[in-house]
Amino acid sequence: MPDETNPFETFQTQVTGAAELLELDDGIVEYLTHPGRVLEGNLTVELDDGSLETFQAYRSQFNDDRGPYKGGIRYHPWVDRDEVMALSGWMVYKCAAVNVPYGGAKGGIPFDPREYSASEVERITRAYTELMRPIIGVDRDIPGPDVNTGQREMNWIKDTYETLMETSVPGIVTGKGLESGGSEGRVEATGRSVALCVREAFDHLDRPLDGATVAVQGYGNAGSVSARQLDWLGARVVAVSDSSGAVYDPEGLDPGEVNAHKDETGAVAGYPGSEERSNEELLTMDVDVLIPAALENAIDAALAEAVRADVIVEAANGPLTAGADEVIADRETVVVPDILANAGGVTVSYFEWVQNRQQFYWPESRVNEELETLVVDAFADMVDAYDRSDAATYREAMYVVAIERVVRAMDEGGIWP
Ligand code: NAD
Repeated sequence: MPDETNPFETFQTQVTGAAELLELDDGIVEYLTHPGRVLEGNLTVELDDGSLETFQAYRSQFNDDRGPYKGGIRYHPWVDRDEVMALSGWMVYKCAAVNVPYGGAKGGIPFDPREYSASEVERITRAYTELMRPIIGVDRDIPGPDVNTGQREMNWIKDTYETLMETSVPGIVTGKGLESGGSEGRVEATGRSVALCVREAFDHLDRPLDGATVAVQGYGNAGSVSARQLDWLGARVVAVSDSSGAVYDPEGLDPGEVNAHKDETGAVAGYPGSEERSNEELLTMDVDVLIPAALENAIDAALAEAVRADVIVEAANGPLTAGADEVIADRETVVVPDILANAGGVTVSYFEWVQNRQQFYWPESRVNEELETLVVDAFADMVDAYDRSDAATYREAMYVVAIERVVRAMDEGGIWP
């Protein structure tokens, strides 16, 4: 019986389920569900008061059959080996789903950066880069941002790596600031792919998006951009939340104003004119679209019984446990899986890497157009796989497409030695 709260077991359940539809040999399924290697180390860093603190550090390199390892770095107290392995595995199938030529990796440090000064976070980030230097590289493993890391940390990683290697190689990391070789449109990319998936899902269901009600759990990068994009597309964002709680307005919130309120106060709670709700109430609201955009395991089997949204688009990685998936699969509810919905982030990271390597930078319009093409094509591939295979859900169908691509690359390369 899998542990519902272990994201690595959720990941393995998802891949195994889809691999069964493809009638793959057990040996191949083992290969597809285990990381190639995980580097685990310790970083001892001097704090501002002169004392020393040691932090655990992880990097899981899951699979590189389709290209160099690629995946973000998370700073969060919940980071552990299993979470990093799960996130690295999801990266493999995410890159394959949108047909970006990368494998999958993920890294992390279990700590809460809000409890440390900026200079302490900088030293931790530089120490992490030094520890990982032998296994990362522009053609080997390219880190990027994830929860609690962003342009600032990516710029430090680039600077540390370039200093140690005595070279200029901006493509070593993605998600950088524009002056450090970042791409236009990268910050908005994840929310943009989430909104595109909502649009495609409504189109597929032949339902108007105009006026459709939306609830967003987690008002960080992915969640807040999703909300703004959906507002622009005509949907009505009625509820949003962060770790401080949820706010609700049946007439619709103004996502840009909620952002400004959060920037000013540090939380969505207390947004003028809104009603307070709990996070659980947000997840079970009677809305057309639910966007979980916080962390894994937001909805377990028990909570899934109470979820009422018609369409769930996973901005976060792994927000539904395997148990929740089973409950929801028995209903009409459409779930657009994380490996497609939030793939905008890695897709524009790929564009950033391409621009770094060509030393030729694209305008935002080109970034957004190319992103839209890849997301819309991947959505169509998912629907096609749902129709041609025995997939019971869109998640299974997207995994069928992604696994087929990974297995083809593996076959073409052959097993060696
Ligand atoms: P973030 O740190 O910017 O935002 C996370 C938000 O979730 C914060 O506002 C936090 O307060 C909120 N939150 C945390 N726990 C919560 C809870 N229990 N209930 C409600 N809100 C809660 O992080 P992010 O970059 O937006 O990432 C969010 C998710 O999206 C993660 O699963 C991440 O892996 C995934 N993702 C992000 C990107 C990206 O480019 N940012 C790309 C792909 C996937």
